[in-house]
Amino acid sequence: MAVIGIMSAMHEELAAVLAAMPDKHLVRVAGRDFGLGHWHGHEVVVVLSRIGKVAAATTATALIERFKVDALVFTGAAGGLAADAQVGDVVVASALVQHDMDASPLFPKHEVPLYGRSRFDTDAALSKALAAAASQVLSDPAQHLGAQAIADFHLLSPRVHQGLIASGDRFVSTTAESQALQLSLPEALAVEMEGAAVAQVCLDYGVPFAAVRTISDRADDEAHSDFGRFIRDVASRYSLAILSQWLMQR
Ligand code: SAH
Repeated sequence: MAVIGIMSAMHEELAAVLAAMPDKHLVRVAGRDFGLGHWHGHEVVVVLSRIGKVAAATTATALIERFKVDALVFTGAAGGLAADAQVGDVVVASALVQHDMDASPLFPKHEVPLYGRSRFDTDAALSKALAAAASQVLSDPAQHLGAQAIADFHLLSPRVHQGLIASGDRFVSTTAESQALQLSLPEALAVEMEGAAVAQVCLDYGVPFAAVRTISDRADDEAHSDFGRFIRDVASRYSLAILSQWLMQR
């Protein structure tokens, strides 16, 4: 049976997934607790990625080397960059780029030296299935979220987007930085801190990869204000519902 690796950036998401696994047990490697077990009949290994590119790359490497995952899915939150990537929307990555990689003038800006590329594609079939699951979940937010969260975060008609996600070791929380990012990577829909590193590890090992991110903020001057509450009341619930829907149909 294929083993599916699930990496979450946030504690709340991981706790909800672990609670859904009836037979889980924890194995500690590299200071991380990997939860092994079954979910909807699939063999899964779930783990907290921790924050930032290096932590995420280490976690992905352990999932592949130690736990032999055949596919890897990342769920978490991200800041919206594109005008229509609004808080409460979900972005499924078609490709990822490290926005803070710059070895120019030796290599073009954003290109990862010796890889000959700046964009790391996700697995098309995996991403398509996750986008379909996300569309189903977002078609009826009230089934997954409390009425207060829907009202407070204006989540009346959330949308699913597919496209480029930018990753880097910065929590982007000023309008100036967000605008600079949009200028240097006009196609990027969202910004986060792990995905492109995991995509690079997965390319190295030939493991199919997909990333699903709920837009938690607009990566602007207000980015930090309601972050914790949004993760707890919205992003974690979406992640759980999307992964659950995807695994049920897989
Ligand atoms: N307070 C949180 C840490 C948040 S760091 C905690 O203690 O867990 C932000 C996380 O959400 C990272 O995993 C990153 O990938 C993602 N993210 C959400 N919005 C972001 C933004 N505006 N810029 C960069 N990363 C963002």
